Amino acid sequence: MDKGIDYYPEHWNYNLIDEDLQRFVSWGINLIRIGEFAWCMMESEPGSYDFSFFDQVISKAKQYGLRVMFGTPTATFPAWLAAKPGVLLDHGHGPVSHGGRREYCYNSPTYQYHVCNMVTALVKHYALEPAVVSWQIDNEVGHESSDYCVCDHCQRAFRDFLQAKYQSVDVMNQRMGLIFWGHEYTSFEQVMIPKTTITCFNPSLMLDFYRFRSVSAVRYINKQAQLIREYKGDHQSVTHDFEGGGLTKLIDFSEVAKELDFVCYNNYPVWGGLDVPGSPSEIALQLDYIRGLKGQLFTITEQLMGAQGHTMIGYLPRPNQAYLWSMQAIGHGCNNLYYFRERGMDKGQEQFCYGLIGHDNQDNRRVTEAKRFFKDIDQLQSYLDRPINNKIAILYDYDNISSWRIQPQSKAFNFMEEFHRLYAMFHHWNIGIDIIPVGRDLSQYQIIVLPVMQIIDNTLAQQLESMRQAGKTIIFGFRSGIKNQDNNIHFGLTNPCLIAEMCGITIEEVEALPPHTNCTLVDDEGNHYDGQVWRDLIRPTTATSLLTYQDEFFPGYSAVTKNDRIYYLGTALPSDYLNVLAYQILVDQQLQPITSSPGVEIINRDGFTMTLNHQLSYQDEFPPLTVTLNVKE
Ligand SMILES: [Zn+2]
Repeated sequence: MDKGIDYYPEHWNYNLIDEDLQRFVSWGINLIRIGEFAWCMMESEPGSYDFSFFDQVISKAKQYGLRVMFGTPTATFPAWLAAKPGVLLDHGHGPVSHGGRREYCYNSPTYQYHVCNMVTALVKHYALEPAVVSWQIDNEVGHESSDYCVCDHCQRAFRDFLQAKYQSVDVMNQRMGLIFWGHEYTSFEQVMIPKTTITCFNPSLMLDFYRFRSVSAVRYINKQAQLIREYKGDHQSVTHDFEGGGLTKLIDFSEVAKELDFVCYNNYPVWGGLDVPGSPSEIALQLDYIRGLKGQLFTITEQLMGAQGHTMIGYLPRPNQAYLWSMQAIGHGCNNLYYFRERGMDKGQEQFCYGLIGHDNQDNRRVTEAKRFFKDIDQLQSYLDRPINNKIAILYDYDNISSWRIQPQSKAFNFMEEFHRLYAMFHHWNIGIDIIPVGRDLSQYQIIVLPVMQIIDNTLAQQLESMRQAGKTIIFGFRSGIKNQDNNIHFGLTNPCLIAEMCGITIEEVEALPPHTNCTLVDDEGNHYDGQVWRDLIRPTTATSLLTYQDEFFPGYSAVTKNDRIYYLGTALPSDYLNVLAYQILVDQQLQPITSSPGVEIINRDGFTMTLNHQLSYQDEFPPLTVTLNVKE
């Protein structure tokens, strides 16, 4: 296992290096992650490369037996490069100022030229260095709105993107329905990149703009991956560190992951300004999403230890809480973990990103906690690389996510809340869940969940139909299947369109519910529940009704239906109802639900079981914020 630390030796007096490296070794660390933001040191003038500082650092690291992950330094760039025209991205008000990070345009030829030269020089320089074992590309692609640019390069590239896709403007006009409001084009040169407008843009055009932004970022990362592969040593691997919240982004991380040997994740369950951390299931969801990007175990390149924030500082992880989050990550498939960072910086924008060592340069509680993790994890060493084979898959599709972003439809709608709602119902029973993109092979799964999947095309519908025939359980959220890949509503079909027969229902009318508004639901036994966010008014054809709306104006409509093993949830349901439903589904598929107290997560892996009490109080016999490991063999 790589036991790592994020180390920024360029931030400190070089005289500290021996003291720092000795400390790392004494903590049990065997790898340092370096270089990712230091472009200005490596190329202080255009074309003048100087890697001597990092030569010294790596030489020292080797003396202490440490290996190295080296970051291509392209997430921040030198002032001389920012001064060149057409490098800085434009959010619609002219170029942003150099001085933060990731202010470059993915489609800038000037930026790409200098990135390619830098990456080539850097990788060639260390290709034969045995201590450098992996290359991290850039940093947190698309984070902090850095995927949004409407500069002239992007305008040009967006028109090229549309032309390559549609070939002729007539085809584009027709597929996007641009006759509406009279927006038909006679040339691709007339298409304006979406900045601001009155009311809103055509939803098909916007979906293509979001795809274009994803493609631009993927192309940028892939280019670096290809260059690194061309020049790197055989012993070196290629990766990228993804930020949290991947399902709230426009960039399809699973497309970025295709060019990587393995995926890295920066795990911050709480960040500056947040009052409280994410819930256990929200943190777990992010970890399962990251594992699903390649369907492989992953590395955590930044594991939070101290309080974090650029301008605001929020919640301070309680003693043992960061340890617990580290173990939780291991349980969900992390097999290498690095802590962020060696020491909080006394200068610069991240003064309040507390690392392990304090600003007083003394060891402290956080150091003790990290050391304990690196020691305790040894007992799991022989199991950490064993694969995870889950029987539940939750599907996502970035076209669908973007479609909801363009038209949320209900003021109460939040994609992540709906996605988490159907994740949490199974996480509640301590059963492993994969989160994977649409298009993957589903044959290993017994339960397939599609939260608010409003875009369902023929390919997906047919794949799901074959799963149905194989006896699998499929769960659809509300608004399923209403749209096609062009972000248009299926014409001539009754909702839920291509899956209506499979679900055994038709949906006759719909309503968006305002925030904090409930609709009343009742089951056969007279139990009442509250639905929120949305109402699909369902008429079963062959399905059984599990819940109906209690409504004097629209009497008799179903809210939740079951057609053999196909479930349709026509509203946002409360957790007490969903947890019971999940239990029944698991038992029906002969999967074993495991009960635990609130806030206690049990993870079963090949070779070990992990029980995590996420609560700040005793639960069952488990003390607050503790991890209990049970090695099976
Ligand atoms: Zn641009």
